[in-house]
Amino acid sequence: MRATVMYSAGDVRSENVPDPQVIEPTDAVIRVGRASVCGSDLWPYQKMEHNDTGRVMGHEAIGVVEDIGADVRTIKRGDFVIMPFAFSDGTCAFCHEGLQTSCIHGGIFGTTEVAGAQAEAVRIPLADGTLFPLRTRVDDALMPSLLTLSDVMGTGHHAAIIARVTPGKSVAVVGDGAVGLCGVIAAKRLGAEQIIILGRHADRIALAKDFGATDVVSERGDAAVERVRELTGGYGVHSVLECVGLEQAMDTAISIARPGGAVGRVGVPQEQTIPGSGPAFYNNVTVGGGPAPVRAYIEKLLPDVVEGKIEPGRVFDRTVGLDGVPDGYRAMNDRQAIKVMITP
Ligand SMILES: [Zn+2]
Repeated sequence: MRATVMYSAGDVRSENVPDPQVIEPTDAVIRVGRASVCGSDLWPYQKMEHNDTGRVMGHEAIGVVEDIGADVRTIKRGDFVIMPFAFSDGTCAFCHEGLQTSCIHGGIFGTTEVAGAQAEAVRIPLADGTLFPLRTRVDDALMPSLLTLSDVMGTGHHAAIIARVTPGKSVAVVGDGAVGLCGVIAAKRLGAEQIIILGRHADRIALAKDFGATDVVSERGDAAVERVRELTGGYGVHSVLECVGLEQAMDTAISIARPGGAVGRVGVPQEQTIPGSGPAFYNNVTVGGGPAPVRAYIEKLLPDVVEGKIEPGRVFDRTVGLDGVPDGYRAMNDRQAIKVMITP
């Protein structure tokens, strides 16, 4: 089959690889209907050390179950499923607590160990716990939004939950990538009154406004902090969604939280330390977050997607076939595309 293989920074190829097969009796294999390139795929695209065998990329997909192992109980051949970016058994202590990204048997798709979904098909470990089947027929037009439930929409929602967004709150979203845009949707959905987007790309800002952003701050660093304070009566916001992962973004996020506020971080951190320890301490700012348990959030977000109340699929502004994926990486990396959808 065709798949997307990354060998080193900037070297991503569409290649023939062996077809995935059921290996463990708890596995399934899905035929990928749609997949996508994640902002977090751009970190290896920029930094990955050379690897001779390469890495089949991709952790966001929807598709149809083609094969199942002998011990798979709830997932059936022919099921249309959402594949969360992490696989999980659905039975351990953390899965029961709704934190499937800490599953003791879990892991993430698209690593050197577990092949990813930017491919014609993908092997799913722990299929019963991992996959979310949709057994009612859904309109084709909803596919892009359903695809976002495998990562970005659930991740934006997680940032909002950790940042304690509730009705009437003031919220700032740091980052105007697909996750930040989904963070705007999540904040609006949870009843935020003021939603400030920090970003500077015209197309993304326009979409953020459509999704419910009330204010735009395009400054950076101290100027951004000052501007957010101006917009919030001098106090800063109750909730900050940090959707970038770079030191400056985190520094800004902590600096624009008002005393007693919270920062939900979902940008994959590119440094080992968290900046802003001083202001976070003296202002009693709670800082939390991590990989979103999107498996737990699908159930909550799905009805709003199906009813058209939220349209996170609008973050996709380019669609490619598998042969076009390398160019899709380039376009996202060059900020020519917000997010790329793949139709294998
Ligand atoms: Zn588990």
